[in-house]
Amino acid sequence: GCPGRLPELKGNIRVLCRLRPGTPSSLVSVEPGPGGTVTTCYRGRHRRFRLDWVFPPDASQEEVFRELEPAVLSCLRGYSVCIFTYGQTGTGKTYSMEGPPDDPGIAPRALQSLFREMGAGRPHRVTLSMVEIYNEAVRDLLAPGPPERLAVRQGPEGQGGIQVAGLTHWDVPNLETLHQMLRLGRSNRATAATAMNQRSSRSHALVTLTLRAASPPRAPSTAGTLHLVDLAGSERARKAGEAGPPRGDPDGARRLREAQTINRSLLALGGVMAALRAHRPHVPFRDSQLTRLLQPALGPGTTAVLLLQISTRPEDLGETVCSLKFAERVG
Ligand code: ADP
Ligand code: MG
Repeated sequence: GCPGRLPELKGNIRVLCRLRPGTPSSLVSVEPGPGGTVTTCYRGRHRRFRLDWVFPPDASQEEVFRELEPAVLSCLRGYSVCIFTYGQTGTGKTYSMEGPPDDPGIAPRALQSLFREMGAGRPHRVTLSMVEIYNEAVRDLLAPGPPERLAVRQGPEGQGGIQVAGLTHWDVPNLETLHQMLRLGRSNRATAATAMNQRSSRSHALVTLTLRAASPPRAPSTAGTLHLVDLAGSERARKAGEAGPPRGDPDGARRLREAQTINRSLLALGGVMAALRAHRPHVPFRDSQLTRLLQPALGPGTTAVLLLQISTRPEDLGETVCSLKFAERVG
């Protein structure tokens, strides 16, 4: 592409949609491609949702990445890019973002593509950090010791950013080291998951890469950033009192609280994206740890891509419609 130009963007947020493979259902049908649609039939009512891109049901990891690669590579020109996977648990968020070793997803493909491009052009200094947000607690997935809760603070005045006290930032000399570190971070997330009942699907995982071009002395060096965010499952919490956890079920109470916290943070993300899209003067970044952490990544001049993962199963239809409504609000 032409340097300095980003691929077709609607505002600065693009919404892409991928279906979880499985038996197709007459209740969810798609017209794939750019400006594609998803049509749902829920409680006898048909609704059609238009997205920036809809992948065909059998789309490969490569096809998905092809749509994202121009945005990923724009980080090498100093842009800030944020890619999210959003959807109900089990719809393929982690599959799309990470993928199995024999069929890598967005993160490994993005790293490979960036390093290939850097190898052919200007060298960059690459740094990596990786955090998990669980019940609004931020933890460093690459800390040398046991992951401790970190404080998120407003950065120095005028710099506009936020600071995560004690967060480790690692210099990554090459692709092999980067893959190793991502595996380490992922296993730190997974360890917590076995200890705490599928916690990984109840937490947001954020990988942040900073790419700073080696520049001549005294020339201002621009840093691009790539955030890869595997969001917690978006399924709604049951309203308290409606069908809350059975009395005397502490695990049920914990799950309810988890779900409510997740709902609130995803709502905050939707609120921030909707405010940015409408150019509202107030953007409610402070409503959740997720949006506080991502504030620098979602401001003016940045690119966000939301990969919406949906299920076609009849029993998931309510959640599928909710996810599509979220996309409609932000995209
Ligand atoms: P989530 O992270 O949204 O909870 P996962 O990524 O864990 O969902 O996917 C749930 C299951 O479905 C996993 O076993 C995963 O391997 C499988 N899966 C999801 N998407 C695909 C796909 N496109 N092709 C093959 N298997 C998939
Ligand atoms: Mg997952």
